[in-house]
Amino acid sequence: MTIVSQSTPSGFSAIAVIRLSGSSAIKISKKISKNYRPLKHRIAEVRNVFSGKDLIDQAVFTAFLSPNSYTGEDVVEISCHGNVHICETTINEIINLGARIAEPGEYTKRAFINKKLNLLQAESVIQLINARSIEAVKQQTKNLSGGATIKIQELKESLISNLAYLEYELDVSEDNYINKRALNKVKTNIKSNLETTDLLLNTFIQGSALSYGIRLVFIGKPNVGKSTLVNKLVGLEKSITSSVPGTTRDIVSTETIIGGVPVTLIDTAGIHPSENKIEMEGIKRSYEEIEAADLIINLFCHDSEVVDIVGERDQIFVYNKIDFMPYKGKSKKVFPISAKTGKGLTELFEHIEEKVSFVRVNAAEPLLTTIRQKEAMGNVSSCLSNALKHLENNSMEIELPAEEIKNAIVNVDLFTGKTTTNDVLDRVFSTFCVGK
Ligand code: GDP
Repeated sequence: MTIVSQSTPSGFSAIAVIRLSGSSAIKISKKISKNYRPLKHRIAEVRNVFSGKDLIDQAVFTAFLSPNSYTGEDVVEISCHGNVHICETTINEIINLGARIAEPGEYTKRAFINKKLNLLQAESVIQLINARSIEAVKQQTKNLSGGATIKIQELKESLISNLAYLEYELDVSEDNYINKRALNKVKTNIKSNLETTDLLLNTFIQGSALSYGIRLVFIGKPNVGKSTLVNKLVGLEKSITSSVPGTTRDIVSTETIIGGVPVTLIDTAGIHPSENKIEMEGIKRSYEEIEAADLIINLFCHDSEVVDIVGERDQIFVYNKIDFMPYKGKSKKVFPISAKTGKGLTELFEHIEEKVSFVRVNAAEPLLTTIRQKEAMGNVSSCLSNALKHLENNSMEIELPAEEIKNAIVNVDLFTGKTTTNDVLDRVFSTFCVGK
């Protein structure tokens, strides 16, 4: 079925793009323009747009003929004037002519089905569109053009050849005699595969931070200056500061970019014993934010102590109000500042920047950016660990490690969305064709 939707945001703009994909895309385009000459591949052509008998607009029609289009099907992009009524009427007419409205992500889904993209790349398309920083854009563009896919492909090929070794041994072994040298080679290879998977798994924290942002949570007793500091850091007056304790009863968050990384600054309700129900709710939420934080700014001043939090958390301790009373403590880990006058803020900001930029350190490497990718890679890693355990415990029973490697390959395929059990057989016969 041919699908249609507006590819640009709805509203008033210079142009808007309506995209059709499917076997009737060309036929519908001819009908709506009442112009039956063929549309040529990748040639933009000005045509009229009609709704019934009424001329609605003049638009640029660009055809991308199957299979050389984004979806692999015939695609026509109609660039009309960016008016909501023109777009609505044109889309309705296209539906009258036999198309239906596309579901969310359906163009990319079709591109995947038609093997124009693998799943990893399809995910990158969505993440590229939603990228919250230029670093995330660069990363997703890299993935889209095959960065992570190449790494995964190399991993898969290595797994296939390990499996091929084991299956060959299974075939040729007589009287349970297994070639130790071949097994040692497989063991060494699997160890190196495990290093690759674990390395990729570790990139998930960076990948997701780059895509979804880092949560920087400001905590402290009421009136310590949290809101003032958040406002200073983002340079805008978003949260209301006042000297009445407990003003920030709810969570106030602000999006910003620090060192190329999207960061959400979260100002929380002051934590202190309270009987006030609304305030108690705010304090409960503050603890929830602490749980979800990637980095915590724990603020204190001359008349209020730091908030104790349970467990090992990444915290920056900040002593505020040095303009009123200087910091007398000895700890080098404390940043003395005045949120009011701005003293010490540069040093604090640079430290925060250093902390959040860990995300960029390996940005040159392919990063896992979705939970689905992380789970699939986690499965690969545990299958490989199991395979290695079997090989080390009992090197005579190679069916078990072979089975684990097969599972690992299935999970690598889940990762990119391919299913290729035939690959394994092909490899076995092409590289080990011994005529037995
Ligand atoms: P919060 O409850 O922790 O969010 O604290 P606020 O940011 O609302 O600040 C509480 C009071 O402390 C306000 O009157 C601020 O003007 C004042 N304050 C904040 N930072 C400083 C500072 O660096 N020096 C001084 N002297 N006062 C400050």
